[in-house]
Amino acid sequence: MQAVIDYLKQNEDRFVDELCDYVRFSSVSAQPERREDVRACAEWLLKRCLQIGLEARLCLTGGHPIILAKTPAAAPKGTRRPRFMVYGHYDVQPPEPFDLWTTPPFQPRIEGRSLFARGASDNKGQHLAHLNAVEAYLKTGTPLPCDLTFVIEGEEEVGSKSLAGFLKEHHQELHCDAVVVSDTGMPSKEQPALTYALRGIAALEITLHGPSRDLHSGIFGGSVDNPAMALAQLLAQLRDKNGRIAIPGLYDDVQPLSKFERKEFARLPLNEKSYRKFLGVPQLFGEKGWTFLEQRAARPTLEINGLTSGYQGEGSKTIVPSWAKAKLTLRLVPDQDPAKIIKLVKAHLKKICPPTVKLEVKSGHGAEPYLVEPTGAQAQAALRALKTAFQRKPVLMREGGSIPIVNDFKKILGVETLLLGLALPDDNAHSPNEKFDLDCYANGQLMSAYLWQELSTDTKP
Ligand SMILES: [Zn+2]
Repeated sequence: MQAVIDYLKQNEDRFVDELCDYVRFSSVSAQPERREDVRACAEWLLKRCLQIGLEARLCLTGGHPIILAKTPAAAPKGTRRPRFMVYGHYDVQPPEPFDLWTTPPFQPRIEGRSLFARGASDNKGQHLAHLNAVEAYLKTGTPLPCDLTFVIEGEEEVGSKSLAGFLKEHHQELHCDAVVVSDTGMPSKEQPALTYALRGIAALEITLHGPSRDLHSGIFGGSVDNPAMALAQLLAQLRDKNGRIAIPGLYDDVQPLSKFERKEFARLPLNEKSYRKFLGVPQLFGEKGWTFLEQRAARPTLEINGLTSGYQGEGSKTIVPSWAKAKLTLRLVPDQDPAKIIKLVKAHLKKICPPTVKLEVKSGHGAEPYLVEPTGAQAQAALRALKTAFQRKPVLMREGGSIPIVNDFKKILGVETLLLGLALPDDNAHSPNEKFDLDCYANGQLMSAYLWQELSTDTKP
């Protein structure tokens, strides 16, 4: 094992150069005119996997290709040892607007310990750290205690359209004991983190139909309900004065936060004042009885994402609008089920909608919330690896967003996902001047090297 650690230290500069080469590809999956760049990036990654000593191939999907790479078979035939899968994505977000970048997005620039480039943090640097760790094992002839599979896709930033089909098609070949994803964050350089829960989502669109056309408010106003007003009143009833969602049954399946979890939340290095300042709001708002850190990651929410009705142009137009529309999403926590939640919301809206307008509700996309038991053996193994690599006590985190692919891993491959993110809050993912911290990169490589040891002792294949 010492040989692996020494190798990683000795090759630190070269690994930074490799990352610089990797981020020079403008692998923007959303832009059809960059298709060749995305492909070239996949080819580079394939070559890199082969150089390391992995058995690798480029899998065509109809969309952007997926790179599938495996450590060479090391166990004697007939014996089974643990296998883990590392997932990442080589595609990146569009870099626009260019003028907000200090230096061009696909020309890497190093300043202090930061490497600036589109894709440096999300997600090229993060999965390259895992590949570098495997290189260290293979090039020093240090036996790995497990087998590894890498699945690096090129469509994450456009919704991973081909991934579920790929997992299904290669189901047998992709058999593993857990998936490891480094595509989340850590609160600070000093606080490595395991993200053990994600929120789910349920989306819907409400339309209230009033008169068959926009009406003159002077001639008809007062005798007919105004759909915009009715919608405002309807929406206002969905939240009570304590910030709770006022829909019967909505909280029924919410798993209570344990004492231990609340203690972990309290360890996060963010205070209310700086958070408020950062957001630019006069005061925070949230469900009573929970801290803002808990509110944004571990409690359900209902948000109005868009609200449209009547005349939107300059000046005034005196009408009673014919319709009013709202787009809503609910963020869900374990064990809320998006389909059940949509049903509850629909039933409640139907009940409280006034008879003066016609209600139409369309449900949109949904994703289930996700939770890995933080006291489970694999989570504990991951925490030990983080601690050894970063030389700091790691924190356990819930994240407020949704990563639908982890549900695919669970449903299709039947395994849990360990989210071991290396991104810092100021990495500017999806924004101009994205960067990746080179200490996180180096420590991420160490973490990966230790992780396979720790996970293998605790996993029975
Ligand atoms: Zn992203």
